[in-house]
Amino acid sequence: MPELIAPGTVWLVGAGPGDPDLLTRKAERLIAAADVVFYDALVGPGVLDLIPAHVERVSVGKRAGRHSKDQNGINDLLLTTAQAGYRVVRLKGGDPAIFGRTTEEVEHLTVHGISVKICPGITAASAAVASAGTSLTFRGIARKLTFITAHARAGEQLDVDWRSIADPNSTLAIYMGKRASGAIAESLIRAGLSPDTPALVVENASLPGERIVRTRLDLLGIATSAAVTDGPAILIVGNAVTRKAKFSTGREIVTLGDR
Ligand code: SAH
Repeated sequence: MPELIAPGTVWLVGAGPGDPDLLTRKAERLIAAADVVFYDALVGPGVLDLIPAHVERVSVGKRAGRHSKDQNGINDLLLTTAQAGYRVVRLKGGDPAIFGRTTEEVEHLTVHGISVKICPGITAASAAVASAGTSLTFRGIARKLTFITAHARAGEQLDVDWRSIADPNSTLAIYMGKRASGAIAESLIRAGLSPDTPALVVENASLPGERIVRTRLDLLGIATSAAVTDGPAILIVGNAVTRKAKFSTGREIVTLGDR
């Protein structure tokens, strides 16, 4: 059997939404086979606990407004560590393929002759709807799913073509939309979505501080500012989340508005 991680190579590994039980078995094996693990701020503490003591761990955390290392710095760190012959794991929250800067890291490493592999993970949107007891698609009602990021720098307009995404037969999973939540909702309504379109806000999906609010689009901004503290939060908008959970997920779900 070849080694899981060859020396001098890099694995980009999905850490899932936070709950260590939602980590893939492969990710867990990769973490244990690494010499060094570089991890994001969004990687759950329970996942970090799975890193064996002999494996070096380095935080390269980025949180909104608190950039501790820029992307170029991370790219270079991965490169020089791999070039020094270490087995490198780059642990990313959720799925590395969704708003994970994966392409930048892959390009930087491969241009310099370093071999890279990717291990997928469970993305925040999947964890959020599981906790709420609902689904991202719904046969006949939501036949399209859009992953979108609505992150705007302070003072900048969101650069999104709202008309193309305001579709009542589609579900929007909005990442990094916490701060702009009210503006996002207004833009979607202006672009034609009904104000009573069902919406979910889930903070800390799958983590101990999880909060779930079921609301409607016109109340999304209020729901987000009322319910969300300083954890990561995802917004899910669309008729797929319309039905009340048919079963108890064992989690507390707050309802704001008539949905
Ligand atoms: N690659 C990640 C997304 C990175 S972008 C994934 O697949 O999930 C970071 C955004 O993801 C956060 O701003 C938030 O919107 C969302 N997010 C990540 N983890 C989350 C969690 N546990 N609960 C809610 N939202 C989360």
